Amino acid sequence: MQTYDKVFIDGRWQACGDERAEVFEAATGEVMATIPRAGEAELNQAVEAARRAFPTWSQTPLDERMKYIHKLYEQLKARSDEIATTVAKEVGTPIKLARSIQAGLPIGITGSYLKILPEFPFVETVGNSEIQQVPVGVVGAVTPWNYPLHQIILKVVPALGAGCTVVLKPAEVAPCTAFILAEIFEAIDLPPGVFNLVSGPGRVVGNALIQHPDVDMLSFTGSTNTGRQFFHAAAEDFKRLALELGGKSASIILPDADLEAAVKGTVNNCYLNSGQTCTAHTRMLVPAQLHDQACEIAAAVAERFTPGNPLDEKTRLGPLASASQRDIVQEFIRAGMQEDAKLIAGGPEAPEGLDGGYFVRATVFGNVDPQARIAQEEIFGPVLSIIPYRDEQEAVAIANSTKYGLSGGVWSGDQERAKRVASQMRTGQVAVNGGQFNPFAPFGGFGHSGLGREMGKWGLEEFLEVRSLQL
Ligand code: NAD
Repeated sequence: MQTYDKVFIDGRWQACGDERAEVFEAATGEVMATIPRAGEAELNQAVEAARRAFPTWSQTPLDERMKYIHKLYEQLKARSDEIATTVAKEVGTPIKLARSIQAGLPIGITGSYLKILPEFPFVETVGNSEIQQVPVGVVGAVTPWNYPLHQIILKVVPALGAGCTVVLKPAEVAPCTAFILAEIFEAIDLPPGVFNLVSGPGRVVGNALIQHPDVDMLSFTGSTNTGRQFFHAAAEDFKRLALELGGKSASIILPDADLEAAVKGTVNNCYLNSGQTCTAHTRMLVPAQLHDQACEIAAAVAERFTPGNPLDEKTRLGPLASASQRDIVQEFIRAGMQEDAKLIAGGPEAPEGLDGGYFVRATVFGNVDPQARIAQEEIFGPVLSIIPYRDEQEAVAIANSTKYGLSGGVWSGDQERAKRVASQMRTGQVAVNGGQFNPFAPFGGFGHSGLGREMGKWGLEEFLEVRSLQL
């Protein structure tokens, strides 16, 4: 068992009382680590340290700042096996996927900023003006548990690259890689106060962070409800704000698509990380005449997602990250059955022989009403809703009929047609025919899915203010 008993403030590990939170292994329910439950006092110290560090760090030449990001990149590579195993245990991500996504994406995103930063126009000339892009200041970063290190890196790397200093409050469900990151920053001698880690409950440490008058910007990833509290807190004293929230993304399969490939691609996308993915394509929209055929294919694909221990190389569907998440998802499956959707795979009962951990069966509903709860609310588990539509116009209307707008997909034999449909979707990203993740492309949502963008040059701009000098 891993014991973390200090928080990282001002370049040092500091003791912070005796309160501890337990971190549970998703596949067994056993305690795998403990972390400090810090309080407002530690949070205040961390913000003060970040404030003190800001003038020097923001004036440190970009080349110097990038040297630290380069060292971070090397260390993330060196510790990638440990990161993958840690997240496989705390979140339940199957180990193969944990290697490529939970450990691989943080490396890829850090590497992307090593390319973006030197090319970014921090200073430009427009007529008689010099336009300067300058760091926002002290950033309060609060992150969730589903891709724990990736979501931290998406904030910390561009923030440090921009010249900001950071106070991070990670989720208590999966916090261990935040501690690994702090160990890395200690090992590479990042100047004191530039990065600070304070763990603890959202309503205590998180709340103190968002209310703190010395925090200039809040960067949050998490649920839409918590995001609303960030919005209110930011409004109080005009803090800059970036929000990456929930989703209920639609995959539109057009009649001319390769049905087999489209259904398979959508199911795989929906079940990624056991459905604990904000961009998951959880609504599959199919032409009414192909509905039954699509259900058959989807059920067969779902059958292959046998739940198992995430540390087993063969496992394709791990457990959910916590007991409460499992209960929420099972409740949604029961709600779907009561709403007259047709259960065609999975169900609310726990899979046989896996009683210790937080497992849920890969579930598919057919003939789902687009206004049903399971078609409107984010479930955050392996649950797919198949929705029939009559024509292209109706498909777009259904896709746009939730309050969210984070991601989506279009499948068609004709790329121009797919692009035409994609362009009508009120959402931040659309994958055409399963188009691959691109770390240089912007990521973020419309509507209740958030505000601002992460990744690429857009993710860097979030941490910059603009000043113009008239010469
Ligand atoms: P959550 O909102 O419950 O918690 C996220 C973080 O906020 C945690 O660190 C938590 O401790 C903290 N927090 C909670 N209440 C707070 C408060 N009052 N003040 C300050 N901080 C507070 O979300 P979660 O359950 O950890 O994560 C799942 C959610 O995150 C899902 O809705 C998912 O869609 C969303 N998510 C979005 C993205 C994205 O990029 N759009 C990515 C991953 C997850």
